[in-house]
Amino acid sequence: MSSEQRGSFLLFIGGVSLGAAVVGAVCAYYWLPYDISVKTQPQSKQKRTPPRTRSSSPRKVSLPRNGDLDGHHTQYSAQNGSAEYTVGQQKGQKSQRVARPALSDDEDSDEDAREAGRQRKAASSQGSDNGPNGSKRASKPVLNPADRSNAASLDIHGLAKRHSNLALAGLAGSRAHSGLQHGGEHLRGAASSERLSTAYSVARPDLVPPPPSLPAPHPPPEHTINTAGDMMREGAIIEEAALHEQYCRVITPEPHISEEMEEVCALLEECLRLRQKWLFKPRDSPEQLGSMPEVAAPSELHPEPFKWRSQQRLEGSFEMVDGVVKYYADEASTHEPYPVPGSSLEFFTDMHRVLKIVSMGPVKSFCHHRLQLLEQKFNLHMMLNADKEFLAQKSAPHRDFYNVRKVDTHVHHSACMHQKHLLRFIKSKLRKEPDEVVIFRDGKFLTLREVFESLSLTGYDLNVDTLDMHADKNIFHRFDKFNLKYNPFGQSRLREIFIKQDNLLHGRFLAELTREVVDDLEASKYQHAEYRISIYGRKRVEWDTLAAWICQHQLGSDNVLWLIQLPRLYDVYKASGIIDNFEQLLDNIFVPLFEVTLDPNSHPQLHLFLKQVVGFDMVDDESKPERRPTKHMMTARQWDLKFNPAYSYYAYYIYANLYTLNKLREQRGYTTFAFRPHSGEAGDVDHLVSTMLLCHNISHGINLRKSPPLQYLYYLAQIGLCMSPLSNNSLFLDYHRNPFPTFFARGLSISLSTDDPLQIHLTKEPLVEEYSVAAQVWKLSATDLSEIARNSVLHSGFPHQVKMHWVHSLYWRQGPEGNDIHKTNVPNLRMRFRFDTFSEEQHLVSSGAEDFRLRALRLSQREHHH
Ligand SMILES: [Zn+2]
Repeated sequence: MSSEQRGSFLLFIGGVSLGAAVVGAVCAYYWLPYDISVKTQPQSKQKRTPPRTRSSSPRKVSLPRNGDLDGHHTQYSAQNGSAEYTVGQQKGQKSQRVARPALSDDEDSDEDAREAGRQRKAASSQGSDNGPNGSKRASKPVLNPADRSNAASLDIHGLAKRHSNLALAGLAGSRAHSGLQHGGEHLRGAASSERLSTAYSVARPDLVPPPPSLPAPHPPPEHTINTAGDMMREGAIIEEAALHEQYCRVITPEPHISEEMEEVCALLEECLRLRQKWLFKPRDSPEQLGSMPEVAAPSELHPEPFKWRSQQRLEGSFEMVDGVVKYYADEASTHEPYPVPGSSLEFFTDMHRVLKIVSMGPVKSFCHHRLQLLEQKFNLHMMLNADKEFLAQKSAPHRDFYNVRKVDTHVHHSACMHQKHLLRFIKSKLRKEPDEVVIFRDGKFLTLREVFESLSLTGYDLNVDTLDMHADKNIFHRFDKFNLKYNPFGQSRLREIFIKQDNLLHGRFLAELTREVVDDLEASKYQHAEYRISIYGRKRVEWDTLAAWICQHQLGSDNVLWLIQLPRLYDVYKASGIIDNFEQLLDNIFVPLFEVTLDPNSHPQLHLFLKQVVGFDMVDDESKPERRPTKHMMTARQWDLKFNPAYSYYAYYIYANLYTLNKLREQRGYTTFAFRPHSGEAGDVDHLVSTMLLCHNISHGINLRKSPPLQYLYYLAQIGLCMSPLSNNSLFLDYHRNPFPTFFARGLSISLSTDDPLQIHLTKEPLVEEYSVAAQVWKLSATDLSEIARNSVLHSGFPHQVKMHWVHSLYWRQGPEGNDIHKTNVPNLRMRFRFDTFSEEQHLVSSGAEDFRLRALRLSQREHHH
């Protein structure tokens, strides 16, 4: 093996047949006890911005020859190195672990001093020529010989430099003799293989006879991790190492990029550019707001959320033109400061462009291969690092899955309580307030007792089974039946009494119930929810009714935010004669919002309520058949048909109005609204295309499994998916077929949410139940759960300063930079892996697209020449 002299070797695992064109091999750099302090540097640089190579052979790692190293130090570092190396290996290997040599105090400090000297030497020798990495290393702490407690954690710095690199290369050909799934065994079996052990003896200086001038090192004593303290220390070492890019990395060689693939990359980039063109982006990026002080809870930002203070009116006027509100800064209606990025015609054109791209054969193959590779990389990462991640989590005192922040990012307010809770509430009202007049039916007012008498029900009869609100097997693929489940005891009059806010009681019962649910959330402290509450668009006054309900009952909490859900029910209102055309629906929804933004005094309660609203949703049965919009659609004003417009038609008009509204609210210093609709729960893929262009994140997205190109685009844009596998299991997709675990492994940005606890969940903590089922069925680790919880905070609309407190002061950055294990319980190891794989994909696509452009340029120049 020619690389032996250079101190490196390759361990082959083959059979990674993920498509020869795309993936030649999977290779991982593995820790070995070897001092390569000087030479690791260029290589890790190489990993960051991998150069494009045209060959499919794996990048070889250049290691220093033995002569490059100071044998004296190598000896000891190798010993320590081997101690570190075994930390966190597979359980079965525990007995093989060797510890640092048990040194006497003198020897220890002697060794420490040497180590420190070596650190300094390495730092100074790298300082200038290694760019940012070099300076990072140079600034590493220097070992203090007196501080023994630090010795362990500082060893890792030494180790960091002496990690040799063992490339696990899956190469085609005779040497590939093990499948990827056997990589772990293969790795462990490496030392026993004859050929490999030869290489090993070179790579491991502790197996080379020591120079005669030095005493032989002490035989390494058995070392086991027994106490919690040990585990925490080892965890801290792993955490620190991951920060400095030292872990079992899973990286792949650059695939050979054909001209066809270059074009695919250019097309994918075009789709991402279109998203950038449409998406509403806040004026101030988190980076610009980074200096704001973090706060522990939203109430610290707004101590009195329901206190009205008179606001100034903003000059200007607005009008609705073809379904989209235009705002003019002056009364003469000439200057439009915040126009929407494009008309509906342009949007449908772009949508069809993306639809065309994602249906191209080469795009499908490319994306499919990349997604497969991402998944396999995650599996390999888990195989190599799962134990280390687990140990790293132990280094964060106090923090565990139960006390990391989790947000229920998708839950409908009218189903936010569990069934037992609702039943208990109904029973207690029947007992305590039987004579309350609750409803007007058939020409007379009825008390609660009379209502139950008319239904021939007594308090004693009531149980969860008669309540009959749970989703059962009869509603699979029956969204219509699911909606009927909102009626307690199958009675719409009880729905009106208990889970409506615009009834005879002005929603008092629902408010009391909501307060109880919110109190439960507050008691749990670390669970939060974003409740989706309906505005139908039948009349403008709906907004004031809703805002009055919230304000009168003071339904505010540090644990709760609100989203507005807009049901897509134009055809129903049109049929009942409430509205004439689609524009009227939009008018009823958006005009009050513009009024209150320009002049809060016009709707004071609405102004207060909107401070707690963070987004807009769009709901209804996506599986209803619809006609995909063509490029030339009727405008909203022209749309007076009896048919419901298609999903993407709704999406554009809601988006367009929100866009200008948000710009205006930003100018006034008010909160803005993210567009976070239901999408891809059922129905056609054009729903997912339109939301890819317009939305910050979506609910469900399970149909992404049907379109690899869209799935890959959602990955590249890191569009959040608020998934609810239990809800899908009731309605559209069996639990064991849910793409959640696949999406998660591939690195899509996913959070778990409950959707409808009333119909679906059985326990008092529906969100934890959702996590629990997912963890059991898909064998999610504690790290996985914490990562999902961390995603849920990022998907949510909680204020910037609060996210800083919950995740990291730089939470918006990818990788370990944006994560604090003491807050999120997510190890840096995991964040580093996600960031590495993401950067590689991004680099691949952008460089492929760049090459495509250059080639096109050359071609056109040549033609010009001729
Ligand atoms: Zn939902």
